[in-house]
Amino acid sequence: MASYDLVVIGSGPGGYVCAIRAAQLGMKVAVVEKWSTFGGTCLNIGCIPSKALLYASELFEEAGHKFDKMGIKVSKPELDLPTLLKFKDQAVDGNVKGVAFLFKKNKIEAFQGVGRVLGTGRVEVKAADGKTQVVETKNIVIASGSDVAKLKGIEIDEKRVVSSEGALKLGKVPAKLLVIGAGVIGLELGSVWRRLGAEVTVVEFLDRILPGMDGEVARQFQRILEKQGITFKLGAKVTSVDASVKLLKAQIEPAAGGAAQTLDADVVLVAIGRVPVTDGLGLKEAGVALDNRGRVVVDPHFATNVAGIYAIGDVIAGPLLAHKAEDEGVAVAEILAGQAGHVNYDAIPAVVYTSPEVASVGKTEEELKQAGIAYNVGKFPFTANGRAKSNQATDGFVKFLADAKTDRVLGVHMVGVEVGEMIHECAVLMEFGGSAEDLARTCHAHPTRSEAVKEAALAVGKRSIHI
Ligand SMILES: Cc1cc2nc3c(=O)[nH]c(=O)nc-3n(C[C@H](O)[C@H](O)[C@H](O)COP(=O)(O)OP(=O)(O)OC[C@H]3O[C@@H](n4cnc5c(N)ncnc54)[C@H](O)[C@@H]3O)c2cc1C
Repeated sequence: MASYDLVVIGSGPGGYVCAIRAAQLGMKVAVVEKWSTFGGTCLNIGCIPSKALLYASELFEEAGHKFDKMGIKVSKPELDLPTLLKFKDQAVDGNVKGVAFLFKKNKIEAFQGVGRVLGTGRVEVKAADGKTQVVETKNIVIASGSDVAKLKGIEIDEKRVVSSEGALKLGKVPAKLLVIGAGVIGLELGSVWRRLGAEVTVVEFLDRILPGMDGEVARQFQRILEKQGITFKLGAKVTSVDASVKLLKAQIEPAAGGAAQTLDADVVLVAIGRVPVTDGLGLKEAGVALDNRGRVVVDPHFATNVAGIYAIGDVIAGPLLAHKAEDEGVAVAEILAGQAGHVNYDAIPAVVYTSPEVASVGKTEEELKQAGIAYNVGKFPFTANGRAKSNQATDGFVKFLADAKTDRVLGVHMVGVEVGEMIHECAVLMEFGGSAEDLARTCHAHPTRSEAVKEAALAVGKRSIHI
């Protein structure tokens, strides 16, 4: 029987990064993956393909609407959807092959099949042909990720009623796309198909978009998306979708109750969230505790209640983000190697990859208010940033939230072009316990959009220069 120091179940960003770090630290490592390619949701049907579509559709829109304003004459761009989807598939292919290469490079054994925990130290792998084998291991890390959350009474066929997975490969641009859920995935994929020509309506149960993100940022971002042509129905719920007719008919009711309304759609995208994957892993039989939302319960060292079994990524509590899963993968590998692995959950950036982007790190104003923490705000709009003005891309702003007594930065929130790349100086600042003053005194190159970050930090002390 094969024997390892560590067996990781799942090869998403949590699992594959954990395996690589553990191998670097000298452990004998195996990964069990039930899909035919590595990389999990992120590389196969999540971050990577969605970003390829966002990129290509953004350029399509720019070529159609912005080039002429800059004096660039091109004929009206035509959409070749099969080639655009192929571009996305190539992005996936390159990335999943990259993980296979890294496994080889780090001498990580990969088992293709469904992994099931048989208790401390034993994992069963069931291959697609039904053959099973058992491997022995000192430690097990569960990195089984998450799956699409279903909406009661609405059946997903991945053709007309789709999840994010189907929305990444629609064979035709829908004339009308109805998105259920105004979270990151719904807004990103809604933006893709709007740019490619769909009329997009987003229905959200709450009275705001981007739940969990800073409210002021979400409100301004909603106005920007509305200007781009997306329609929002907030405080509303989709109660059914009739797929027996040619055009889908969705019943929509106010969340607070009241008269229903029918909306027609060619495609409905269900994007109401994700649920942890724990089925078939043998967790119940092994006695591994789950919380009331079905997530594996872990202590601050990612250990479950069963000796030698750990869990990371989307299958445990916390934001459903690839980089959060990766950092947990590194931390648990280091802990298993006797080092002090740690994840700072107060400095995990989050990005919405639309155009403009939304980016945040740390606490929102709502969270600080709720916690009763006194804070100062420093804001700076891109309308006053030289680079943004020169590119005529001035939507959005940067907002710093700093402790009122110590000036330590507690959160930074931005909406604007490329802010997903700009948030990281704030994450580094927060990792080092930095103050708004620290950032305000750091020289920033001119002309860059990042100068707006410095100006927002200056604004905490009411001394922005360019406004
Ligand atoms: C459309 C979309 C866009 C996204 N965009 C972003 C983004 O831009 N940025 C970001 O940070 N996050 C994004 N996410 C979220 C991100 O994909 C997840 O947070 C991340 O993939 C979680 O990583 P993980 O390793 O925990 O699990 P996963 O990536 O879900 O991987 C789990 C793996 O475990 C395997 N597995 C499960 N059970 C078993 C078993 N019993 N045996 C063997 N294998 C098993 C699965 O097949 C899968 O490969 C997006 C998600 C979606 C759906």
